[in-house]
Amino acid sequence: MVLTDADKAFRDDVRRFLQEALTDELRQAGRRCSGIFSDHPEGIAWHRLLAQRGWSAPRWPVAHGGTDWTPRQHYLFNRELCEADAPPLAPMGTGMVGPVIIAFGTPAQQQRWLPGILSGQDYWAQGYSEPQSGSDLASLQCKAVRDGDHYVINGTKIWTTHAQYANKMFCLVRTANGGKPQQGISFLCFDLDTPGITIRPIISISGDHELNQVFFDDVRVPASGLIGEENQGWAIAKYLLQHERGNPWAPQLRSRLRRLHAALDAAFADPALHGEAEHTRLRHALADAHCRIDAVEALEMRALQAHERGEPPGIRPSMTKLLGTELRQHLTELGVAIAAHQSHLRVPMPDCEGLGVPEEAAFSMSAYLNDRAASIYAGTNEIQRNLIAADILSR
Ligand SMILES: Cc1cc2nc3c(=O)[nH]c(=O)nc-3n(C[C@H](O)[C@H](O)[C@H](O)COP(=O)(O)OP(=O)(O)OC[C@H]3O[C@@H](n4cnc5c(N)ncnc54)[C@H](O)[C@@H]3O)c2cc1C
Repeated sequence: MVLTDADKAFRDDVRRFLQEALTDELRQAGRRCSGIFSDHPEGIAWHRLLAQRGWSAPRWPVAHGGTDWTPRQHYLFNRELCEADAPPLAPMGTGMVGPVIIAFGTPAQQQRWLPGILSGQDYWAQGYSEPQSGSDLASLQCKAVRDGDHYVINGTKIWTTHAQYANKMFCLVRTANGGKPQQGISFLCFDLDTPGITIRPIISISGDHELNQVFFDDVRVPASGLIGEENQGWAIAKYLLQHERGNPWAPQLRSRLRRLHAALDAAFADPALHGEAEHTRLRHALADAHCRIDAVEALEMRALQAHERGEPPGIRPSMTKLLGTELRQHLTELGVAIAAHQSHLRVPMPDCEGLGVPEEAAFSMSAYLNDRAASIYAGTNEIQRNLIAADILSR
């Protein structure tokens, strides 16, 4: 990306802020984050610092507490966050339900929920998937029946990230049967401490507790939490997914690559760990990854230019999601190869110093295992391929 003087001034402003606001602890939390996004305490701490600067939801309209940044400035901001090892923030509030409430909520709903999302006071969970409804989301069965001023919810949601920390949920529920499955779905927001809600942990292959299953037994939630019209939630659900798939990939991939180069240099300072042939192989692999990241960035730059011309994103988010996740997973494989036998130690990262294990080595297996999920969440890669194929065939 060629920077203009105005771009450089903006970038420097962001850098100055990050230099001051990001403590060593927060940067460490950013580096140690092998999951989808940062652990809750560090994530919330960082969110609140950004909120004080007015940057916790920069993509929102200014009237709701966002910024008037251009698409380039958003891209640069994201790049600086990655370069500075800022903890990646959970998108469920600012990136998912927030834009929905802005676009479809009543003024009363906007006043009720947007300030808590912006400040970090509220933490939201996404209730979309069910045990039998993931890719085929429109088949969802979690039921809500209107009863006076309330809906009564029965059913279950699964893979609910960070539900154990959340105090609010946005949820797709079935409010009518018959007709196409997309009809009869409604978008409801409510408090997660409502009686009748049970949250059970799901421990992932990496040993982390990020995911949950949420059960609803005769849960009475206020009907004032309905966004848009009853049975018209599918259009809202799809609007939200566009936001979920819209983030740039190249900045975080470059940041990972930078760390892999440093890990490789450190690993080969100890000749006992690898042979020279392996060193050459890994150097070539990192160079190859570098070229592939350049290709993703080129695609993102084209998307950025199209955005600046006011064109709709079209199929590009699916393309970058597919390429970005495959590359991200590939980088974690290289991380394990560089760490060699040290990747198998599986010690908690705070303990690795005492054992003489490099932090990157302790991180590598955790990142490798966690990133298997990247080609599943936010729409699996097979689904992205279907969308891309349908787009090409329709031309
Ligand atoms: C780490 C993680 C976090 C998540 N967080 C949340 C969350 O917070 N909230 C939430 O609601 N959900 C969440 N999800 C769920 C996620 O959205 C679903 O896992 C995803 O949509 C896939 O659905 P599924 O797991 O039911 O798999 P399925 O849809 O059953 O798919 C199984 C396999 O079949 C393939 N497949 C399915 N249909 C097709 C098709 N038409 N063509 C070709 N192949 C197909 C898929 O690609 C996949 O390989 C999360 C998932 C993960 C892994």
